[in-house]
Amino acid sequence: MAIERTLSIIKPDATRRNLTGKIAAKFEEAGLRIVAQKRILLTRAQAEKFYEVHAARPFFGELTDFMASGPVVVQVLEGEGAVLKNREVMGATNPKDAAPGTIRAEFAESVGENSVHGSDAPETAAQEIAFFFSGLELVG
Ligand code: GDP
Repeated sequence: MAIERTLSIIKPDATRRNLTGKIAAKFEEAGLRIVAQKRILLTRAQAEKFYEVHAARPFFGELTDFMASGPVVVQVLEGEGAVLKNREVMGATNPKDAAPGTIRAEFAESVGENSVHGSDAPETAAQEIAFFFSGLELVG
């Protein structure tokens, strides 16, 4: 499988509970390398832009309020099949459905406040990485 890059976000419920190190360790233990990382506070408008594909969903307001409610850590993960591997390490959207050992099974509070975001395909990964990082910030 090819070396890929994918976007990961550690969400406000996790930064609030001081879980960034434990979550980063899960990615590194799975063989993913963090090649860029920064802690930022999104505005509501930036959260709406990032999640615009979900604009028609009933939870859009709740989701974007939540994503702007505290700091997030945005990071680029690199490795073989990184897009899929990141999704596996994250676990299912709803922590009740997440496999044991996954980040969401261990740390997520609810389907909305579920600790991590991960790109769902290589094309979206490229768009989402460019949303947060310039080429100069991808240091390998
Ligand atoms: P993901 O790719 O696993 O993150 O899941 P989706 O793309 O389906 O949804 C994006 C994000 O919207 C999820 O990670 C949740 O934070 C949020 N979300 C999804 N479903 C719900 C819901 O029913 N209620 C709320 N409040 N948030 C939701």
